[in-house]
Amino acid sequence: MRFRCLKRGFCCRRYWIPVTHLDIARISSYLGVDAAEVVDLKPVRIYGSYPQIPTVLVDGEPQYLALRDREDGSCILLDPSSGKCAVHDVKPLVCRFYPFTYRLEGGEVRVVVAEGAIGSCPGLVDDDAPIPQRVVEEVRRLAERHMFEIALWRAACIEWNRGGGGSREQFLEFLRSLIERDRVFAEA
Ligand code: SF4
Repeated sequence: MRFRCLKRGFCCRRYWIPVTHLDIARISSYLGVDAAEVVDLKPVRIYGSYPQIPTVLVDGEPQYLALRDREDGSCILLDPSSGKCAVHDVKPLVCRFYPFTYRLEGGEVRVVVAEGAIGSCPGLVDDDAPIPQRVVEEVRRLAERHMFEIALWRAACIEWNRGGGGSREQFLEFLRSLIERDRVFAEA
């Protein structure tokens, strides 16, 4: 497997991007904007069930915290003029994995090619060779970080849902206070 990011943004037009409050803490601070300007809520009813992604009860239904997208489905943070990510230095952890991801098998992190990436990511070449060791090491490092941040986010979702959820505006207030509370972890 060979990979070199060609920075064409195909993945940024194709997928919706699940995030944690710590992804949003980094992005909103980097751009100097309020969290509400970059987040969206995606109902499980429409986007499907992914048990590994925590959900929040908003407007009476479970929803994923995600980046906003444009009408054409592309990520709000994809710069239309340059075709590049506007927050490359602090992009969400899931974006940093792509076109790879990880699975936990017997307590071990196993690095794999993301589903659907072969044939759609122009920088990924399947030459029957294993995933390069430098990629494996980088994805493993990110996976440790991701597992830590997802655990914090999951705990926050449980805290919110335990109170019965609320409206979108109430959730955004909760998200802002959460970002302030946990900001130290976003910077670590
Ligand atoms: S945050 Fe950046 S890398 Fe991730 S989908 Fe959006 S534009 Fe692409």
